[in-house]
Amino acid sequence: MTSENETPRAGGISVKTEHIFPVIKKWLYSEKEIFLRELVSNACDAAAKLKRLASLGEYDAPEEETYTVRVTLDPEEETLTVSDNGIGMTEDEVMRYICNIALSGAADFIEKYEKGGDAGGIIGHFGLGFYSAFMVADSVEVVSRSFTGTPTVHWVCDEAGEYRFETPTAERTRGTDVILHINEEGKEYLNKGKCREVLEKYCSFMPVEIYLSSTDDKPAEDGKGDKGEKEPEKPINDTHPLWLKNASDCTEEEYRAFYQKVFHDYREPLFQIHLNADYPLNFKGILYFPAIRNEYETLEGKVKLYYNQVFVADNLKEVIPEYLLMLRGVLDCPELPLNVSRSYLQNSGYVAKIASHITKKVAEKVVALFNTERSRYEGFWDDIKIFVEYGAIRDSKFYDKVKPALLLKKTDGSYVSVEEYLTAAKDKNENKIYYTSDKVLQAQYVKLFEDRGIAVVELAGPLDMEFISLLERENKVKCCRVDADSGALSTEGEEFSSEALTALFRKVAGKEDLEVRFAPLADEDIPALLNVDEETRRMDDMMKIYARGGMPPMGDMAKPVLVLNAKNALIRTLADKSEGEAAEAAARQLWALALLAQRQLSAEELRAFLSDSYRALETLLKQA
Ligand code: ADP
Repeated sequence: MTSENETPRAGGISVKTEHIFPVIKKWLYSEKEIFLRELVSNACDAAAKLKRLASLGEYDAPEEETYTVRVTLDPEEETLTVSDNGIGMTEDEVMRYICNIALSGAADFIEKYEKGGDAGGIIGHFGLGFYSAFMVADSVEVVSRSFTGTPTVHWVCDEAGEYRFETPTAERTRGTDVILHINEEGKEYLNKGKCREVLEKYCSFMPVEIYLSSTDDKPAEDGKGDKGEKEPEKPINDTHPLWLKNASDCTEEEYRAFYQKVFHDYREPLFQIHLNADYPLNFKGILYFPAIRNEYETLEGKVKLYYNQVFVADNLKEVIPEYLLMLRGVLDCPELPLNVSRSYLQNSGYVAKIASHITKKVAEKVVALFNTERSRYEGFWDDIKIFVEYGAIRDSKFYDKVKPALLLKKTDGSYVSVEEYLTAAKDKNENKIYYTSDKVLQAQYVKLFEDRGIAVVELAGPLDMEFISLLERENKVKCCRVDADSGALSTEGEEFSSEALTALFRKVAGKEDLEVRFAPLADEDIPALLNVDEETRRMDDMMKIYARGGMPPMGDMAKPVLVLNAKNALIRTLADKSEGEAAEAAARQLWALALLAQRQLSAEELRAFLSDSYRALETLLKQA
């Protein structure tokens, strides 16, 4: 203990750090609540250190030693005290750890980031630890007694960084009180509700039991519960969060309860992935696939990042692959460097490895469910589709892994994997996937395919256009909407065409360059169909998205092709009588019906179609 004589028992903060307090206040202002995280985690660390010494036989712990941390508010005295019964500090240690080391840590931090002005990008603000108290306090006292039994130490530090040791008013038991004399900016933390909220946010899973009380607390009646016994006080936190357990020891019920507690979501998640990466990555966590009710909800995912059970931040996109931010979960990364800027994190290999490990685990889980629990998997495919498709679009590694489990939903509501579809389609429509973007509107086309035994799948979701491009790129297949190429469905039949009909339809459609094709369609009842080239229609669709609906239902690029059914009686009759008013009226009506079967009519087209129809009925009745 020679140093005791060498170190002054009072002093000022070294020149190097003279600006430390104003800077702490300025930089951390937006997140001043983290002072509580810092002090409580120091207190938990103090308990952990003593436990370790006990396990090493260097501290003779009494049987049933319980460690606790208590936050006590005194609104009258305007103090907030964080107490622990951990390792405690001798005077020498207070000098070393609080006055010197902690300060130099803070000084390093400031030196490093003051220049770059990058402090806002620091994720954890870890290491500033103790001194973050000065964001909400004018002065701070430490009353501590080391486990070694040396006398109690009382240290006082004011806002300017001047500190001194005082004679303690009494000996305390082992442990440390950090007493904050709350300043104007910190007033709200004298409120118990506010403190509870902050503790629940940051400290819910810290490893030592944490209690909160206020000198305002009304004592429960006689301090007794119903049975005359004192109700045990409940800690704020769960000291053994589920993610720390082995996956094989966790029940579905526990996963569900954990999810509901952390995310305040009464619904059941679809399934979860328990992450447990050993050396060299060393992180743990649980990711849940939430049940989604509507598209907008998917934006609400939340992945909470922890650092040794201490909450750091939500949805840290530098650590978690973007598409997984739609999931919910917790991730504890004790080796994550937090005193670095976000951009550093983003470029760090460690983070990339975490991301790729997570990607791999998620894909493996999805594929395992597909392989072993196919009907359950199909049952929630509609819910997870958006995650899986988004992941596949965003990350080719994820796509490669999850590929066998990508499902397509057929119009009859059943599911096939992409591979299964292509295998089944081998003889009829090799390498083509036929899809509908609206199975009601496009029902007539769908029927044409299904009558010929060709399955049609529904691809109508918000991501499906991009998903289609991905399938085409990766599988060397072609995706064709059902209204793209009905000619492909032609059956055997005699050659038939009529220039007169071509001219007639061009006239009634008002399109001189309308392409008219004659084809013997399998369904004899259908007189005419419109086809729109797949590629140009896609471009049109894109334009519409960019123009935000500012375009008419069909753009100028996608020129429809009118397919007239050579097998249909009406068409054959019209070919024989292609002149005169009746022929024109019939052709106009057929054109409108073909439009109607393919897409929504514009207001003008609909009006014209209706009045033509009324007139046609009149004529019909007159003739009767
Ligand atoms: P860090 O926790 O990152 O080391 P801090 O500024 O928060 O930085 O704390 C500095 C040091 O002070 C700690 O490493 C620890 O040795 C000591 N210390 C702080 N709080 C306590 C406490 N409640 N009990 C025992 N030691 C403490």
